[in-house]
This record gives sequence, C-alpha cells and structure tokens, in this order.
Amino acid sequence: MIRLHFNRTGRQPTTWLLDVPIFTVCPNCAFTPPEARRYVGSRYGLVGSFTCAACGAKVTITDGDCYPPVRFTADVPGKPQVSFIYEDVYRLNWADLERAGAALCTSLIPAGEKGYVDVEAALRALEVEIARLNLPHAPAPLPDGVTWVPLPLRAWLDALHTLGV
Ligand SMILES: [Zn+2]
Repeated sequence: MIRLHFNRTGRQPTTWLLDVPIFTVCPNCAFTPPEARRYVGSRYGLVGSFTCAACGAKVTITDGDCYPPVRFTADVPGKPQVSFIYEDVYRLNWADLERAGAALCTSLIPAGEKGYVDVEAALRALEVEIARLNLPHAPAPLPDGVTWVPLPLRAWLDALHTLGV
C-alpha cells in the first residue's frame, strides 16, 4: 500500500511520503540500483544505508526526521551527496494531487485536517478516467538526474501526463 500524509492545518497544506518505494542513487559513482527500497520515514533522520554494488562506497540515507528531502551521502573523501524531494519527483505534492483531482472532478485528498492519501486508489481513479476518455498512453518524461521510477509511481506519472495534468 502506498500512502502519503496530508495536513491542511498549516500555513500551507502539504503532503509528504509515509510509505512508498524509492529509487536509490550512489552519489560517488551515480550508480542507480535496479531495485526499489521501501521508504517509511526515518528514526531521528536516519533512513538506512547500503553498499554501492558498482563502486563499493557505503551510502547513508537520511531525511529531515520523516520530512523531505531524502539525502544520500557516500562515505568517501569529500562526502558527495545527492538528494531528492520524492514528493516532487513522483508528483505527489499537494498541488499535483489537487490538479489530478480537478481532472477527475473529485478530490483525491480526503476531507479533514490531517490524514492519509491512498495513492493506489487515486491511481485507479485516474486509470478509469483515461479508459473512459479512451486516451492513448503517454509516457511521462522524468526530471534530470532521475533514470527510473518504481511501479506504481511510474504508472502514476504516466497517468497524470496522459490526462494532461
Ligand atoms: Zn557507487
């Protein structure tokens, strides 16, 4: 199950990742492992670590204590880093969800001040609309520095792109 938190109560309503697959990157050699990692936030900012299969560097993954961005730091001289705001890469931020909901004439963010967004249910709703409109599948371009996106986020990006969101 892929879920986001949402909060309408702050100065700016926001969504942020709760439980989603993320791609990972080695900031030392730019190797991107072919398998996704499950991201469920961090403990005091520490998400986890892995050893790069290409260059052997130890890579530590951190975040802002469960808030974006997610940062990869290689334990080599100079401590190279790369970071992603996955909410933006995956187009799961508040503005994108509002626009996707507008395309469906519904809201993809449940009522209430705080709660969770079920991304897979939202994706099914988009796919039903695409089928109803009989739109041809349009693969979404990925941001610079992103080589792949795990399913079903790939399908989510393509659905938004196909609907012109
Ligand atoms: Zn590497």
